Amino acid sequence: MSKIDNFEDLFCHELSDLMNAETQLTKALKDMAAAASDPTLKKGFETHLKETEDQIEKIKKAFASVEMEPEKVTCEAMKGLIKEGKEAIDEFEEGPLRDCALIIAAQKVEHYEIAGYGSVCALAEKLGFDEAKEILGSILDQEKATDEKLTEAAMNINEDAASFAEAAE
Ligand code: FE
Ligand code: FE
Ligand code: FE
Repeated sequence: MSKIDNFEDLFCHELSDLMNAETQLTKALKDMAAAASDPTLKKGFETHLKETEDQIEKIKKAFASVEMEPEKVTCEAMKGLIKEGKEAIDEFEEGPLRDCALIIAAQKVEHYEIAGYGSVCALAEKLGFDEAKEILGSILDQEKATDEKLTEAAMNINEDAASFAEAAE
């Protein structure tokens, strides 16, 4: 098999991987929302599910803007990260503990996405794909904001768990 020898194809490959990752995530986020107890966290997963569906449309626009078609690839990393999220649901007792495990799994997902979108933005910049860079930059901002919201949710849940433990003493 001949090797990829140009940056256009690298961009196409990386963006196709992200598109597959987002597609896998639409199913996973539904399960995570259903498994979360804290109403703010549940709502957060539901909001990010809508954003994720929108991100798939944005990726299609980015491909169209450079007249490329996505490749059929499986993001193996996202497959693994989602598997870890499922373990959080299966292995931890419902409530603050499982919510924390879900947040940890979700933040690993967001960090993978942040790395991925940061990279395709840099490639788009290098290739002069201005429109694609703008579209993908807006997804990058959503992933960063989601990561921050998850950090806040973790602090609130930990506080709730701590005050619950104190009350139980
Ligand atoms: Fe995403
Ligand atoms: Fe991947
Ligand atoms: Fe995300």
